Amino acid sequence: QVIYLNGEFVKKEDAKISVYDHGFLYGDGVFEGIRSYNGNVFRLEEHLERLYDSAKSVMLEIPHTFEEMTQIVVNTLRENKFKDAYIRLIVSRGVGNLGLDPYSCSHPSVIVIAEPLSLFPKSMYETGIEIVSVATRRSRSDVLSPKVKSLNYMNNILVKLEAHLAGVSEALMLNDQGYVAEGSADNIFIVRKNKLLTPPGYVGALEGITRNAIMDVAAEKGYDIQEGVFTRHDVYVADEVFLTGTAAEVIAVVKVDGRVIGEGKPGPVTNDLLESFRELVQNDGVK
Ligand code: PLP
Repeated sequence: QVIYLNGEFVKKEDAKISVYDHGFLYGDGVFEGIRSYNGNVFRLEEHLERLYDSAKSVMLEIPHTFEEMTQIVVNTLRENKFKDAYIRLIVSRGVGNLGLDPYSCSHPSVIVIAEPLSLFPKSMYETGIEIVSVATRRSRSDVLSPKVKSLNYMNNILVKLEAHLAGVSEALMLNDQGYVAEGSADNIFIVRKNKLLTPPGYVGALEGITRNAIMDVAAEKGYDIQEGVFTRHDVYVADEVFLTGTAAEVIAVVKVDGRVIGEGKPGPVTNDLLESFRELVQNDGVK
């Protein structure tokens, strides 16, 4: 396995960054999680757009054009001969001095890691997962927009810790007003009477690329799908609940805070959309 590190492909064991990199010292940087299926990089353009937007928002200049970055991602996949992989693209402020000042960093670091990955075992897609709501809140009101996929994921890590403490692997994050925002790094959908609802960006949810793909697929299939604000109560009484994300793909949620959702197994709408998603990812993408 080789890693793209600042212009070169290096062996995994040799892929090291300086302890003075501000990505390491301060979480000063942005990232994307991308996926390839059958050698096609799924929605690469959308991921790169989000990366460049995140970078612009925090005044981090990516030292490559959009086209170059596209090639770097595709080449990393090719060098590794992976067909189905999870790709992590990181741009940090780079190496500077110990102070916070980003202007001490002269070159951003650009890293691309690709490896085969499956977030949940196959059986969980068949049985669905259990989640709990946690105390950690998704902020709507920080100066840093929740739309920026920055290297500061401490809140999301707290969510994972809370989930593990409760004996489950995923969680439901509310925003500071108590509205449902998202999971630890995935978006949420609820289905009630064949209507699908997912929280809008302004409640603090990241506008996930998988989420947007599912919204398109569902609309094409004729489902009534909308963005809308909802609470934990609406989740408890939903017929179906599922999470979407690059790593999680589409996974049914069958229990939330001890309440069984629907019949306690992945429902027909979730299964239908999972199947369509699996077809979509095989045929759509950058080669
Ligand atoms: N929410 C957060 C906070 C995330 O980090 C991610 C992962 O990227 C998502 C949601 C899901 O987004 P996507 O479908 O683009 O992976």
